[in-house]
Amino acid sequence: MPNDSHVAVRNARDMLQDARHIAVLTGAGMSAQSGVPTYRDAQTGLWEKYSPEQLATPEAMANQPNLVWSWMLYQARLMRSVEPHEGHKILGAWQQELNNSGGSLEIITQNIDDLHERSNAEVLSHLHGTTFTFRCFECDVPANYELPPATPEQLAATPELDQLVLEDPPACTACTHGFIRPDIVMFGEMLPQQAMDDALRAVRDADVALVVGTSNIVQPAATLPLAASAAGAQVIEINPKMTPLSEDADISIQGTAREILPELYP
Ligand code: NAD
Ligand code: ZN
Repeated sequence: MPNDSHVAVRNARDMLQDARHIAVLTGAGMSAQSGVPTYRDAQTGLWEKYSPEQLATPEAMANQPNLVWSWMLYQARLMRSVEPHEGHKILGAWQQELNNSGGSLEIITQNIDDLHERSNAEVLSHLHGTTFTFRCFECDVPANYELPPATPEQLAATPELDQLVLEDPPACTACTHGFIRPDIVMFGEMLPQQAMDDALRAVRDADVALVVGTSNIVQPAATLPLAASAAGAQVIEINPKMTPLSEDADISIQGTAREILPELYP
């Protein structure tokens, strides 16, 4: 860790020690050390041919339902097969402790995995949905679909396009002409209004907003740290790379979620 990162960590710990209400905003970098690659870092396999912005769209799902469904299924299986790391676990413990003493730690995530929940943390807001529940692509009725368990071969590596075993998405039983999709926000789709409203409320109520592992360029999630700051919260960023937020954050820590979060726990 660079020397100035040690100072930043110490200052952040002092700031958090006095905080009663903390809002934590997490992005794909939060899950990277559990083994879920971020989209921006994934340059192999499928991504040599398609960018996530091309594949995770309603247009792509309408045109190539089996390709998009199979990729989403692969992603969901991978997310189910990995484990939370120390950073997720500390957030779960921290939330419990603040809840017990009349404070709060509210988690807002852009991640579609369940690694926070599996660390005994309650997530206030899944801004981009979750990948383990499903609904109809046509009629939006929730689907009663259970993710089938994966074989080790299915999880071995990011699939090359021609190795991805293509499966058709199951049919919707409500309207019978649609097929099902995960409850995630694809590129170009609106965020669930309630999730965004809850997130805005939480960042405005916070003494400190902790922004972990997000590039701060995916909108409208990227407005949340700014809303926190405008409402008087201190903003702490954790990211190994500089982002558009880094200069405006009160403290910007260059480091990874698994190493830094346990160091910040007062
Ligand atoms: P993103 O825009 O949030 O970028 C990831 C950020 O994480 C980058 O700034 C990177 O520097 C940082 N990072 C990498 N490793 C880190 C670490 N160990 N600790 C802290 N920070 C780290 O995310 P994206 O990958 O461009 O994905 C865009 C959207 O796609 C997400 O918001 C999400 O909806 C979806 N997605 C979800 C998951 C998941 O649920 N785990 C994974 C990939 C993508
Ligand atoms: Zn339907």
